[in-house]
Amino acid sequence: MEGAVFERVTLNRPDLRFPFAPNFVERIQGQRLVNLTRRAKFLQAELSSGETLYMHLGMSGRFIIEGDSKLTNFTHEHAANPKHHHVVFQMDHPVQGGATITFNDPRRFGFMELVGLGEPYRLDHIGPEPLGNSFSGPVLREALKGKKSKIKAALLDQRVVAGLGNIYVCEALYRTGISPRRAAGRLKVAETDALAGHIKDVLSAAIEAGGSSLKDFSNTDGKLGYFQHSFDVYGREGDPCKGCEAPIRRIVQSGRSSFFCGVCQG
Ligand SMILES: [Zn+2]
Repeated sequence: MEGAVFERVTLNRPDLRFPFAPNFVERIQGQRLVNLTRRAKFLQAELSSGETLYMHLGMSGRFIIEGDSKLTNFTHEHAANPKHHHVVFQMDHPVQGGATITFNDPRRFGFMELVGLGEPYRLDHIGPEPLGNSFSGPVLREALKGKKSKIKAALLDQRVVAGLGNIYVCEALYRTGISPRRAAGRLKVAETDALAGHIKDVLSAAIEAGGSSLKDFSNTDGKLGYFQHSFDVYGREGDPCKGCEAPIRRIVQSGRSSFFCGVCQG
């Protein structure tokens, strides 16, 4: 998409999780996509108009890429039902020609938003990228300072660290030997240092494995991730802890499941 012009934009419904911005189609059509990056769980497409198109996959969203000769022969292990094709971008690239990028999302938890230059956006107060240099033990310690909430909830708070999901919080806490029920502000210096390191390690390992395919996640090339086979605690309630063989426990914290070992995670 980078360097390509949005030749035609088609919306097949008025909303996803949120309604599309007024004149969504007109504001994108004819613009060139200057730069495509990621921030937290958002895809960030900078347009030649100066506006930014933010795209979020939600729970079940995916992009299907067709028509570019360099990108063909993808075999999706889960076929997408065309009835959930909500947005279609027909791109035109000066060198590569055109690709059709289709956003498919059965559960419609995904969304797309358009933000003008300098306009405030929901990502403005988001924390550092966990794999970036700006995230470290001291930075995590500062963010958790004085917090009375549980460490599990604090790590899911996007203002503390960006884009860290439930699975990886559970796994990082297990690797660090910290109970999800500990008060966030009361972790020791050595613990926050170790935790920041384990967050980076678990995310790097998951990326290396192509992600975690639990229900319907697949990569842009249609392949399934396999990090779910490496989980130490997530989804393993009742199974023996890999460290001490005590059964893994599951509790619900702020509506989300926390999996942990009651022995190894003090
Ligand atoms: Zn254990």
